[in-house]
Amino acid sequence: MDKFHSIVNEIYEMFKDYKVSKSEIERRLKLLVFEFKVPEEEARRTIINGLRRDLNISKEALRFPLTKISELEPGKWVSVKAKVIQLWDSTSPSIAQWGIVGDETGTARFVIWTKSSKGKVEEGKNYLFEKVIVDEFGGVKSIKVTSLSEIKDIDEEIEVSEEGGEVEAIGALVSISQNSGLIQICKLCGRFTKAGICKEHGKVEGVEVLRLRGVLDDGEKMFEIEMDENCIRSLTGLDLNAAKKMAFENLDRSIVLLELKRKLLGRYFRVFGELKFRTINVKRAEFFRPKILEEVEKTLEEVKNW
Ligand SMILES: [Zn+2]
Repeated sequence: MDKFHSIVNEIYEMFKDYKVSKSEIERRLKLLVFEFKVPEEEARRTIINGLRRDLNISKEALRFPLTKISELEPGKWVSVKAKVIQLWDSTSPSIAQWGIVGDETGTARFVIWTKSSKGKVEEGKNYLFEKVIVDEFGGVKSIKVTSLSEIKDIDEEIEVSEEGGEVEAIGALVSISQNSGLIQICKLCGRFTKAGICKEHGKVEGVEVLRLRGVLDDGEKMFEIEMDENCIRSLTGLDLNAAKKMAFENLDRSIVLLELKRKLLGRYFRVFGELKFRTINVKRAEFFRPKILEEVEKTLEEVKNW
């Protein structure tokens, strides 16, 4: 591509969210370069500054362009308008908040670092996340809110495109959330309650449930998974009553979480369920033994018989 067109493209990329057409940029560049014999680099700066002035855009906004979620690229600093779809319980003191955001093009994770002193966002609300860095892990993109970033409430309802449906996944259960095991949830909204307090409803009557939340890694992607009592019983033999009894006998409900970790963590599973915002609500799960292991064992068995 020649210099002329690469400048046009560069400027177009910078201003495309502001509805500046390529032909308009070309017109300005031609005028400066061919009519007024302005050197290309100087013409480039003149056009950028001119457009910024005309459109009333700060330098900052150009360095952190407003980007749709489907177009996030790892390593880039951007701004994103999105709705907070899910907030997850923080798993580390360095994370103030994390969860999933979405816009009409897709969903991504977000992380607000504690150090950033930014926040807090609420589920179901719309925000402009300014000056955030894009990251990718296990095929899932995320935006990171650092101390440079800003989070602004916006008075705009963002439609979220929801990928979903029935899925099957095979992978290793690489982590189990602390909010698993024999836990109490809010009677009104189903959120995890801590010492009888729901984040949304305050002091509430808790309901005891047996639940597992964790991360399944299929080698390419990571899924959040959630298993209910039926699933857990089918894998471990443990049901709600047995879990209550276990907690009572040990005077400690965290014994149930330990038991789930002992039996399930690091094992391979095949799960079937409903995918919603990268969380699989597992309906059925079974232990999975990679075929290769079966092959090896079969071969060993044959050798033995010889
Ligand atoms: Zn509640």
